[in-house]
Amino acid sequence: MTLIPKSHPRAKSLLIREKLVSGFDNGLVAKEGLLAQGRGEAFDYLLGEKTNQAAKRAIKAAAAQLLQAQKPVISVNGNVAALCPKEIIRLSKQIKAKLEVNLFYTNEKRKQAIIKTLKKNGVKEILGTNSANSTKLPGIDSARRIVDKDGIFAADVVVVPLEDGDRTMALRNAGKTVITFDLNPLSRTSQTANITIVDNVTRAIELLISESKKLTKRNEKSLEKIISDFDNKKNLTENVIQIKNNLTRRARVA
Ligand code: ATP
Ligand code: MG
Repeated sequence: MTLIPKSHPRAKSLLIREKLVSGFDNGLVAKEGLLAQGRGEAFDYLLGEKTNQAAKRAIKAAAAQLLQAQKPVISVNGNVAALCPKEIIRLSKQIKAKLEVNLFYTNEKRKQAIIKTLKKNGVKEILGTNSANSTKLPGIDSARRIVDKDGIFAADVVVVPLEDGDRTMALRNAGKTVITFDLNPLSRTSQTANITIVDNVTRAIELLISESKKLTKRNEKSLEKIISDFDNKKNLTENVIQIKNNLTRRARVA
């Protein structure tokens, strides 16, 4: 790993980038995953590289939705496995969700590398590994629609961090409630999901774990209220306004 001095103004962002690069070197991350990270970084820059109030509200709604779910599943791709394997496992334990390895760019070798990383970090059961148990989501082309019968296919709530728009749409069409982490409030995934956390997954995941812990004692009715009070379209608009305000501040002539 390249040595990044702590004093560097973009140290955190560079460290995240390094995780992706070593994930790529270790066969977890696809080339396209590196590009997706770049797209995310640009939005992170515009958002001010911190968790804003709108993201905090989305995190609370996501926690309530996950605690209320009967069969929650977290979808893991190469970028997530490279960026936050420990945290994604902790989240799955906290909300009693299954983990499924589900790749946009299907590749058996990469899938095995991701499974190895998750196992190294303490996971016992990972779905999406047994082809005899796979089935297809309708509405998208062949390679990208494979899901596990006992995982995403059977789930009521699915967490799909850093997901593609077509697949998010297919999950919605299949009747799933979709939660995503996506730094771009304009992406099709952001616009299609039920709850979009517009924040870097590396920051927001810890907050989702702690919020889920905090809300475990709440009753069904109180969780329902948190969910129904949340409006994803409004939340996305708030994120766009945040970007606009940040840019306006920077565009002021001294
Ligand atoms: P869509 O298909 O939803 O319109 P897209 O084609 O622009 O999106 P994809 O590569 O399909 O982009 O999806 C990856 C998404 O993940 C992008 O919107 C990107 O901004 C976001 N992203 C990348 N890295 C991170 C990260 N570390 N945290 C949160 N979001 C991220
Ligand atoms: Mg896409």
